[in-house]
This record gives sequence, structure tokens and C-alpha cells, in this order.
Amino acid sequence: QGISPFLEPGPRTKANSLAILQLSRDNFLPVHLQHATGEHDGYAEGVVVNTRFGSFPHSTMIGVPWGSQIRASKVDTGSRGRKRKRVPGDDAARDENENENGNESAEPTDTPSGPKQAIAASSGFVHVLPPTPEIWTTSLPHRTQVVYTPDYSYILHRIRARPGAVIIEAGAGSGSFSHASARAVYNGYPKEGERKGKVISFEYHEERYKKMKEELSQHGLQGIVHLTHRDVYKGGFLINDGESPEAEAVFLDLPAPWDALPALSRQRPEGAEGATESGKPWVSPLNPKKNAYICTFSPCIEQVTKTVSAMRRLGWVDIDMVEIANRKLHTARDRVGLNLPQDRGVNNSARDVEEAISKLAEIEEKFRQHARPARSAENTGSKHGDNGKAVSNRKGAREEETSTSSRPWADGRLIVRGEPEIKTHTSYLVFAILPREWSEEDEAEALAKYPLGQ
Ligand code: SAM
Repeated sequence: QGISPFLEPGPRTKANSLAILQLSRDNFLPVHLQHATGEHDGYAEGVVVNTRFGSFPHSTMIGVPWGSQIRASKVDTGSRGRKRKRVPGDDAARDENENENGNESAEPTDTPSGPKQAIAASSGFVHVLPPTPEIWTTSLPHRTQVVYTPDYSYILHRIRARPGAVIIEAGAGSGSFSHASARAVYNGYPKEGERKGKVISFEYHEERYKKMKEELSQHGLQGIVHLTHRDVYKGGFLINDGESPEAEAVFLDLPAPWDALPALSRQRPEGAEGATESGKPWVSPLNPKKNAYICTFSPCIEQVTKTVSAMRRLGWVDIDMVEIANRKLHTARDRVGLNLPQDRGVNNSARDVEEAISKLAEIEEKFRQHARPARSAENTGSKHGDNGKAVSNRKGAREEETSTSSRPWADGRLIVRGEPEIKTHTSYLVFAILPREWSEEDEAEALAKYPLGQ
């Protein structure tokens, strides 16, 4: 396994690597591309992805530039004569895809028609995209609630995740945050003396741990995300049998973050017994030479209160809470009487056509009155209308353009509406800082470097 396609995708798709098929604007299907010669799983073309928009043999998607449009196979993939394999996102994608891409539906039949029989060519297509944490978040198999892009982009910024940083994460869950943070800390091949960026991740649910381990290896991220199967409330955050990861940032997406906080102290606090299970002296998982930045992610305010209270007791400072209210805005021209595809999904039911027509007549009249002076100004070559007001070039051009049309409002009013579906798991984000350690030696070193009064 080479470098992760999430970190360095290169110019083209590769075999044995992850690619994301975009079926429609918001519909993505992760596919692990595989070379397979000869018949595979009953398909003559090797491994095939079947969607309602046609069949896509992996062989047609390997070695192509990222972003390529892939047409559905024109040959029989056998999908008609067999019960179609279900793929995630398939059903949900159908209507949207037909509308937006003009993709036609290749409805499967359950009637056996012989495996090598020719089928009507499908004109469907997909785009093959490089995996990014953002796309992965929208397409990953959910095993838990996940952290969505609007939250994790803000979190990563606030906890100062950057190339070479070491971040502690618990719990790993479905790996949405892990992928985003892995990209944030990735620093390629660090020079001597430089640290390699790492995500030190913990998950106590065995099935989720195993699944995520498998995913990390498939995605080439196992060298960056160090995943441990552990209950962090009891076992703390040390790795490799008692070694400190020396982290400078922490993200906790746990039901009781306050129970994990004692193990994230600089000195052994009361209640951090878990970290001494091995009988070794207590070690902090934090980098002693750097401030530690933390974020906890909790859905209710009671959890926030408990977390903040534990943070105060344990010496965290600059504590504050943020809630991200992300909203997508849908911008379109509002065309009365037309049920255009781009208007679907927007609430049209309340549209009162009568009222809209009379409003349009009003707008048309206003336009006529407004356009008159500009026209006469243009005719005389003056930059001023006959009311003496300056007309900017841009405005003049727009008026000229619209004045030649008998129905200037035909394009409709520009309307902006919030999209109905807000795909983000809203939670409260608590941020805080644990100042670095400062010993007598540090003070002496600092004074030698920067003597006071000079
Ligand atoms: N942040 C993850 C993502 O973006 O995909 C989702 C995390 S999910 C909401 C919470 C996870 O924490 C669950 O998978 C759960 O098993 C794990 N968890 C809960 N308590 C834990 C503990 N004490 N130690 C380790 N993991 C724990």
C-alpha cells in the first residue's frame, strides 16, 4: 500500500485504491478499484459496479485522470439476467440523478435472460473523484453519529491541527474526524529532528475498532492514525505499553468527556489511576513543552456543564463553548408557473400564482419607468440620465440589455432559500487550553536567552 489517496492522490486513479463515484450532486459511492481479469463474480468484465444508471466495470475506471466522466458499459455485464447487487446510495440517488445528469434508469429485472445477452446501451454516467475527508464524511458507512465537515473544519482550526502535530482522538466511531485530522497533520516525509504528524485514536467498541482498523489500512492511513482498542475512561491515552504520545491537541467525542479529562493532565491528578495499571510511574500523554488545545463534542448542555466544571478543576484555561449552525443556501431564479428541476426540493406549495403575476406586472411597469431615462442618456452619449443622476457603466449596460427585452423579468427574481435538509449533527463544542509545563530549568533557559531588562 503506497501513500494514501486521501493525502496524495496523484493525477490518476489506481488499482487497489479508493475512488469515489459521484452519481449526482450530493450522492457519492466509495469504491475500492480492483483489477480483475476474466470472469469475476459472474461478470465477464471483471469487477463491476452496478447502479441504476448502468454498469461500470472497474477496468474502465482504473488509470483515468481524476474527475473523468465514465460512461456506463455498453456491453452486457450480466446485470439484467440476475438480481442486481445493492450498493449504498443507489436507491436514494435515482431520482436526483435522472433529473440532474439526464442519466437514464437501467432498471434491473429479476427475469433471467441469460448472462451474455446484449442489453440496451445505457447513456448513464458517473464522475470518478479522488477521496477527500469531506466526500468520505458524506459517503462513509455510518456505524455511529459522525462529526460533519462544518464542525470538524472549525474544530481543527481551533485546536491548531497542522502538519507535524500530534492529536489525541477518542472515540474513533465511524472515522469521519479521523480522516479529516489525518490530512490536517500529514507532513509527508519529515526532516531529521522533525516530528511526524499523527492521530492517536481510541475506540472501545470492538466491532467498530476492527472495522476502522481495516478501513485505515485500505485507505493507506495506518501510518498516520494509530488506533488502539481501549476504554479511555479506565485506560487513559498512553500508547505502546506506557509511552506518551506527547500530544499537543485533543478531540473528545465521548458520552462523558469529564471522565477522560483526569488522564489528560500534566501531573498525576486524583482519579487518574487507570494510567498506572501497568505499575509504571504516571506519565502525561501531553507534550510538556507545548500548550495543549482541547475540544469536546457533546449534544446536550448538561454534558457541557459537567465538562467545563471538570476542566476548571484540572487547570484548563480559556474555556469557551461554540455551536456551529451551518446552513446551505439554495440560490435560483424564481420562474412562475415553471416547475424546473432546479426548483424541485424547494418548497413551492405556498406559491400563489395570481399574486405573483400581478407582482410581475408591477415590476414590469416599474422597469419601464426606470429604463426610460437611461435610454435617453445612452442615445445622447451622456453618462447621465435626464434626471441628472449618474448611471454607472455596468448599470447602463444592464439596463440596455434588459430594455431590449419585452419581458425583462422573464428570468425571474433571484431568490435565496435555506436548503431543507441540514446534514450536520449539531453539538456543543467546548474549547480550552492547558498551559505547558514550566520548570526551574525552563525559566533559567529563558532568562539566559532573553535576560530581563535588556
Ligand atoms: N467522532 C467520530 C466520527 O466522526 O466518526 C464519532 C464518534 S461516536 C459519536 C462515539 C464513539 O466513542 C463510539 O464509537 C463509542 O464506541 C466510543 N466510545 C464511547 N466511550 C468510549 C470510551 N470510554 N473509550 C473509547 N471509546 C469510547
